[in-house]
Amino acid sequence: MNICSEAHTPVYKITYKGAKGSKYKPEWLVCENCHEKKYFGAFDVVLNIEKLY
Ligand SMILES: [Zn+2]
Repeated sequence: MNICSEAHTPVYKITYKGAKGSKYKPEWLVCENCHEKKYFGAFDVVLNIEKLY
């Protein structure tokens, strides 16, 4: 599981579509602040955004 920053409190769990042909779907725990910056890792296709609280 990836996290935007160890010092932040995650609010969203974002699941991205993995690389083509890969079954791995990167999951990121992201805080409210970083969520607005939108992109994490090299993945730009969002499959699901789940609010944790
Ligand atoms: Zn953050």
